[in-house]
Amino acid sequence: MNKYITTAIPYVNAKPHIGHAMDYLLADIWARYQLQNENTVRYAAGTDEHGTKIAQKAAEAGLTPQRFVDELVPSFLEMQDKLKVVRTDFVRTSDPEHMRRCQEIWRRLDAAGVIYKGSYEGWYCAGCEGFVTESEAKEMNYTCPDHQKPLEKLSEENYYLRVSDFTEQIRQFVAAAVVPEFRGKEILELIKNGAQDVSISRPKEKLSWGVPVPGDDAQVMYVWVDALSNYITALGYPDDGWDKDFWPADVEVIGKDILRFHAVIWPAILSALGLDLPKKLLVHGFVNVGGGKMSKSIGNVIDPNRLIDKYGLDAFRYFFTRHIPTFDDGDYTEEKFVAAYNGELANDLGNLVSRLSNMIRKYEIPADWRESEVRNAEIVKDHHAQIAKFDFAKALSAVWDLVRASNQYIDETKPWQLAKTDPEKLAIVLNNLWGDIMVTQALLSPFLPDTARKIKDIFNGDQVKPAEILFPKIEI
Ligand SMILES: [Zn+2]
Repeated sequence: MNKYITTAIPYVNAKPHIGHAMDYLLADIWARYQLQNENTVRYAAGTDEHGTKIAQKAAEAGLTPQRFVDELVPSFLEMQDKLKVVRTDFVRTSDPEHMRRCQEIWRRLDAAGVIYKGSYEGWYCAGCEGFVTESEAKEMNYTCPDHQKPLEKLSEENYYLRVSDFTEQIRQFVAAAVVPEFRGKEILELIKNGAQDVSISRPKEKLSWGVPVPGDDAQVMYVWVDALSNYITALGYPDDGWDKDFWPADVEVIGKDILRFHAVIWPAILSALGLDLPKKLLVHGFVNVGGGKMSKSIGNVIDPNRLIDKYGLDAFRYFFTRHIPTFDDGDYTEEKFVAAYNGELANDLGNLVSRLSNMIRKYEIPADWRESEVRNAEIVKDHHAQIAKFDFAKALSAVWDLVRASNQYIDETKPWQLAKTDPEKLAIVLNNLWGDIMVTQALLSPFLPDTARKIKDIFNGDQVKPAEILFPKIEI
């Protein structure tokens, strides 16, 4: 079967951070699981490269906006390479092909009668290049606190998208697709009186770095149509021969901060185009540090590259999958990371692998593990059920239930005593454990692909190989 998963496209006004790594990682686990089950997978990622913030930053750096983004985009690709994600597609919104497709999407939306021109009136700060509402303006005493300048009352012409026409489709979509459910409920509450139309363009003099609105030289597309469309332009939409077989997306992975746009504006655009809606929207939370928010000024920003270089990729993948809840905010500290590494990776799993390899080799046990007893069926079932629910943290936790069950079985059966008293039982016990470790590596594979491959290499044969130390202990 064809499977399609997408990740949010980050705004490239700075280098990638842990939030982007979380998007990539969660999508990768799901994609690898599908590949393991012999599905064909497209995994799309990309970068959101237009808008005034990028234009401003580029100007500060003395670069053209294109040059500015060209210099930053490789760091996102490198991050993906470093995480070893199985990404197949990458859309840059400044790519002329994407822009051309966006313009055609705009034309189709216009032809469908869901775009209208309206004027927007509000309080504007030229420094922020943005409007605030009447109540916000009043609160800041009609002066921008950042720029110390009085706000101006301005009105501007924008194109609007008739999101309100699709309220019912949006409600159904949110109820069916948003994972976890509580995040969907927040959106349903937000639109209980109906979804609001949104402005989808800006006058060119306010937003020059973007996709020109077809048929109106004075207007440039605002982020919505330009950025959200990447999920379909990745498949070649709307060109003839686009890869329909992969639409609708099975899963779109996003952070909680961009749920509103993906839950409300995106289904409206797709419905207007006559396209099916994504099957699931997987919403993850934020990673906090030591109970507080990450911030550049505090200097506690997690650098995924540093952690991977220091502790290895699988240790990184392990911690951020298992110890950050998939559906909610989680907390990172390097102490927690090291404790999980030493306790769970080095002790629980690493020791199991080396003990088992040593015993099977020492007692010269013939390979009979393919016929071993079926054990721990409940744990394996739970693992797959958690993946079906997208709760990757719990799915990985279930693998550790399996690891602990094996360690406990060793402690209970005491193979070193059986070696003296009951060689037949010894062979059965070690073959059971051998079968268990093969199940363990298979379940582990989407999460810790390198580690799973090493374990498989040690045990998958008639002769068990000596085990290397998978996770050397970290001295604190
Ligand atoms: Zn301002």
